[in-house]
Amino acid sequence: MIEKQSAGDNIAAHCTKCKLVLDHVIVAMDGDSIAKVKCKTCGSGHKYRTGQEVKRTRGAAKKQDSRAPEVLWEACLAEAKGKERVYDMGGKYRIGDIVDHRIFGKGIVRNAVLFAASFAVMMFAPLTPYVTVGAFIVSMMMLSALMTMIYLPALIVLLQGWLFKEGLQWSRS
Ligand SMILES: [Zn+2]
Repeated sequence: MIEKQSAGDNIAAHCTKCKLVLDHVIVAMDGDSIAKVKCKTCGSGHKYRTGQEVKRTRGAAKKQDSRAPEVLWEACLAEAKGKERVYDMGGKYRIGDIVDHRIFGKGIVRNAVLFAASFAVMMFAPLTPYVTVGAFIVSMMMLSALMTMIYLPALIVLLQGWLFKEGLQWSRS
């Protein structure tokens, strides 16, 4: 049985200011339920909320704007003006190309190339150390882009049972 609480008691509650579950003092009761609490850490008074209640409302809020990333993605795809082509490991891609992967849909190569290109400028520097570092970073970035495109999809397939509730949806054939 839970002990009956009253004003002046200590209780763990979610602080709206600290955004954490912290020690609070009960300020006001509403019958048997706690109405108002005061945070012992920051001293602010607010409505009583448990950590679980906060998590629940946050989850609901997330659901509401779940369409936003898709809208952003569509905008990104519209921006990439390159030709759409079917993803293949040995394929070559130019800036702006949309990679149409069999399973993973569309990805944009442009970003990876752009990042590498911004460092490639260093290779035209007058000082040899800059050229070396520039070349090193460019090769590192191209390698990581390659790894992302080859190993990440492979890992997603391998771990699909763990990553997704019902495995991957093989929407294309
Ligand atoms: Zn606080």
